[in-house]
Amino acid sequence: MAQLTPLPWQSELWQRLVALQTSDRLPHALLISGPHGLGKQQLAEALVARTLCLSPGDAACGHCHGCRMLAAGYHPDLLRISPADNRRQIRIDPIREVNQFVAQTAQQGGYRVILLQPAEAMNVAAANALLKSLEEPGSRTLFVLLSDVPSRMLATIRSRCQHWTLTVPAPAACLPWLAEALGDEREAAFWLRVAGGLPLLARELAGGEARQLRQTLQELFDALVRGAEPVAEAARLDRQAVERILWYGIAWLEDLIRLGLSGDTEQVRNPDLLPLYRQAIKNGRLRDWFRLLDYAREQQRLLVAGGNPNPQLVLEAWLVRWSALLRS
Ligand SMILES: [Zn+2]
Repeated sequence: MAQLTPLPWQSELWQRLVALQTSDRLPHALLISGPHGLGKQQLAEALVARTLCLSPGDAACGHCHGCRMLAAGYHPDLLRISPADNRRQIRIDPIREVNQFVAQTAQQGGYRVILLQPAEAMNVAAANALLKSLEEPGSRTLFVLLSDVPSRMLATIRSRCQHWTLTVPAPAACLPWLAEALGDEREAAFWLRVAGGLPLLARELAGGEARQLRQTLQELFDALVRGAEPVAEAARLDRQAVERILWYGIAWLEDLIRLGLSGDTEQVRNPDLLPLYRQAIKNGRLRDWFRLLDYAREQQRLLVAGGNPNPQLVLEAWLVRWSALLRS
């Protein structure tokens, strides 16, 4: 089923987009950015649907010919571009396809829409090839680019798009939605806090396998505080989950640093870990936590860029450093 309406916390942004589109002032290229877990995809899908709808109101109508084609999974005037399976890069070939697509007229007589994500995945050749189409798109063309980290995009691409940044919503704007998704209000509040206020990430983290991973990491954290051997512990972890493991490590380090600096438990995102944090703070020095945080962020950056081929080594090196601080 195609996404026809935006998520509840996006309604204000949505109204602005609809007003621009209705008055024919929507630019031909939009860049929608913000961290993973805010619903960029849902917002973009709703906009794509409304753009291709033949009689849109506040949102796509859901039953015209355009909407039916979209719901069926194929609309001739929509081109979706993402990295090919198991790859992290968008290479030049799909962008050549974009350029051809833009040169044709729309088959349904309306808009041609290109949805490209994540935009930072374009390699330099691909980004350069896209520039021409972004500059001279022809009439009735809409580019929608999505990006978690727009600073990793080529500046020349960014500057040719109107940039919309999604920010973390107020908890009140997303908790009812999350409580419904998880079937429990207290769970919703807990996971939203763990996810740093990102509602879709909260739903993801609270799901079966992801929830188990957090439990495993908590046990491992506890074991390391008590002096367990880090390389042996690393062998028990799922190397496929290395990005998520680093993500948790960074979130917990940030908690530790916040707690170490202010002593304020209200700011801690993982209140259930407070006993472990207290033990860790007793053992490690603040500047070493900062150093470990820099290290973890760099590893995360390399992983996302596809720069480190061996997740097992990343995990081992990470746990060795953690344990050195926790035991010192
Ligand atoms: Zn429609």
